[in-house]
Amino acid sequence: MRIHRVHTWQDLEPGLKVSIRDRAAHYLVRVLRITSGQTIVLFNGDGHDYVAEVIRPGKSELVLEVTSRLPAARESNLHIVVVQAISRGERMDQTLQKCTELGAHAFQPLFSERVEVRLRPEKLEKRMQHWQAVVVSACEQSGRAVVPEVRAPLDFGEWLFQADPAFRLALAPGAEQSLVSLALPASIELAVGPEGGFSEIEMDLMASHAVRPVSLGPRILRTETAAPAAVAILQALGGDFV
Ligand code: SAH
Repeated sequence: MRIHRVHTWQDLEPGLKVSIRDRAAHYLVRVLRITSGQTIVLFNGDGHDYVAEVIRPGKSELVLEVTSRLPAARESNLHIVVVQAISRGERMDQTLQKCTELGAHAFQPLFSERVEVRLRPEKLEKRMQHWQAVVVSACEQSGRAVVPEVRAPLDFGEWLFQADPAFRLALAPGAEQSLVSLALPASIELAVGPEGGFSEIEMDLMASHAVRPVSLGPRILRTETAAPAAVAILQALGGDFV
């Protein structure tokens, strides 16, 4: 039988009783039909899995007791921050989901010139919560016990002119250098354009601020394909696809 993994923001330790409420409880009890005595795995992002036994499977509150803590070594030594120009709806979700599965360390959403999504301040908070929830469920599914952070969106200029920048790459169709040909440091920021790509001005600005343009071959990929493809390549070159 498959063991379910469930994220919680609560502190966890062996011996502790934990209650899971609302939608997560509903899903486990009503949809998955979890019953007393069954085991599930909880994680809160601290790098461990916590085995827990179901004590009371209520419809709106599920009570569990944590029985043991296990290290979950599923993080890559290569820190990849995906700097994704905000794409429309589902596409952004796909980028977040796939790159989480592939072991990205964090996400930096970006407003670049050709981003078509407008987010008013009151909508922004909700959208960030949605993005973080997409990442959390990709962690539940993929066995990650460290949850990648979805950072607050930055404007292109704010990102570009950051003090003390990391080693930065920009995916750019037609770039002379191939992503595969790079020697990699342990920490990388990878910028990916929106549906319409980065503008020429943005490409020039990046080139003059030590952001290296790199190519993923001769075909133009959709933005939601480009980021996961690049993360997979980076993990194979210098990460944990061994
Ligand atoms: N119409 C745009 C294509 C944008 S594709 C153009 O011609 O520039 C969206 C983003 O995916 C690009 O900005 C780039 O970051 C990435 N991308 C897509 N295909 C790529 C490739 N073959 N090599 C490198 N990056 C690519």
